[in-house]
Amino acid sequence: MDQDAVRTIKDRIDIVELIGESVQLRRAGRSFRGLCPFHSEKTPSFFVSSERQTYHCFGCGRGGDLFSFVMEREGMTFPEALAMLADRAGVTLERFDGRPGRSKGVAGAMEAALAFFRRSLTGPEGESARKYLDRRGIGSADAAAFEMGWAPASWDMLRRELEARGIPAGDAMAAGLLAGSGGRTYDRFRGRIIFSIRDIQGRLVAFGGRLVDGEGAKYINSPESELYSKRKTLYLLNAARSSIREKGRSILVEGYMDAIKLHMAGFSETVASLGTALAEEQADLLKRFADQCLICYDSDTAGQEATIREMYTLQKSGLDIRVVVLPEGKDPDDVVSGNEGQDRFLGLIGRAEPLPLFHIRAKSEALSDETRRTAARREIIESLAELPPLEANRHISQVAQGLGLLLPEMVDLLRSARRSAGRGGKKGISGPESVYIYGERDIPRGVKPSDPWEAALCYLLWTDERKRAKVEPAYVLSLLSEEGTKAVALSILSGDGTGELRARWAKAGDDYPMRLISTGWGHCVRNGEREDMWDIVLSALESKRSKDRFDALTEKHARGKASPEEMKEYFELARKLKRRDR
Ligand SMILES: [Zn+2]
Repeated sequence: MDQDAVRTIKDRIDIVELIGESVQLRRAGRSFRGLCPFHSEKTPSFFVSSERQTYHCFGCGRGGDLFSFVMEREGMTFPEALAMLADRAGVTLERFDGRPGRSKGVAGAMEAALAFFRRSLTGPEGESARKYLDRRGIGSADAAAFEMGWAPASWDMLRRELEARGIPAGDAMAAGLLAGSGGRTYDRFRGRIIFSIRDIQGRLVAFGGRLVDGEGAKYINSPESELYSKRKTLYLLNAARSSIREKGRSILVEGYMDAIKLHMAGFSETVASLGTALAEEQADLLKRFADQCLICYDSDTAGQEATIREMYTLQKSGLDIRVVVLPEGKDPDDVVSGNEGQDRFLGLIGRAEPLPLFHIRAKSEALSDETRRTAARREIIESLAELPPLEANRHISQVAQGLGLLLPEMVDLLRSARRSAGRGGKKGISGPESVYIYGERDIPRGVKPSDPWEAALCYLLWTDERKRAKVEPAYVLSLLSEEGTKAVALSILSGDGTGELRARWAKAGDDYPMRLISTGWGHCVRNGEREDMWDIVLSALESKRSKDRFDALTEKHARGKASPEEMKEYFELARKLKRRDR
């Protein structure tokens, strides 16, 4: 990472000034004070220190430096925040992944092309395009606000324009504006309405083009390039993100026009997929701002098997997916257009269905057909089984009803679907540290049931705040043998409150930690739940640890592989274990 750049950026940008752009700050002694932008409050508890160049909120506990502020506020990753702040500070970054950075030339070519497309739309050659937009209810102010343009039906107008501006053909090619090879290059976008696609940092990364009339594909997009990855981009996300955060949900539509029309109708939390399969990366983008995502596709597309698979992909990535069911043959644009369109759309949003229930609706025909019913049922249950258990369980009784099954039958089917899905290769990790890297959801769970004494230790730590604060984590880890149990214990010892942990596990759909803790509770109850339970559990685990070690040393000794120190340890353990047995 570029430490010098980070330092220079911190030198050049004043945090008070930066935060002051979005938060009204008043001087308060040696600091500045304002209403916290991260939680809602009436009395200011958000402080910015000019001296230390940090901020802190006494209400919600958030705090940090200007990088963490931008990351939190804009939903950016560190590299993204670094790029944005470097830009602002006029610092050139060395790329740390060895790839060349976004060159000035390519960015310049994109901006020049946008200016050209905009001019073409407002000029005489843009008349047919303006008429088309008019028919779709998009006036010139809207077209400007959404950076729409027009690519004239010519093979070389843009190329000549870029040449005249001194932009090298190589940059225009790299930006995907020109196509062709060798000396023969031509304009990629011809006779098309242009949509500008920006990334989350607001950089122009691609264009989409819609054919107005004539032959050819209805939509084309910029090719993937150093600027543009379809999987990591959502149309209008940059404009929608603050609304998504405020409203706690995103609306995902298919087309550029749908997205624009929904924004115009007041649904500024709308983004569009870019005519490609929905990807995990897109779920990650949306999740930065809100967990809930309403998918609003044409009824034809939404019901397709491939689309439903993609929706499950998003849901598995942690988004709460609801499907907005549109009237047959309508798209979102049709619904919001005309009188009371906004209310009509709000009504549909209110009736959005959780994904598994929508899945049943989409399969209703197959489900009512004797010959296809079993396959359709299996498909729905297997999809459900892939979701985090907590998420799946929320819908289980409704799904059972929808499939015409009794609840116990449904539970059995779901369980066996999970078992057979679980047999597939799981990514393996080891070491307790991995819990912090991978997140708690990916902890591998041993197939064997947890050791009840280990579970009991977790339970005691969970219930006793004082023990939690005093005990040495390394000591606790030395008593535990299973990675999953170690990870739970580490979480409990992390200093986060139990309420917070429980909520986090629930949100991640991870029921393992609470199951483990309740196993431990059961074990303590069976052992009489005595005052000195803590000591009993520790001594049981310590002697188990000693026995395990003793067995390992015995084996080594038998093979003649034990070192003198190990022999010494072996005899000490033997004495200790003997004493215990008496
Ligand atoms: Zn706050």
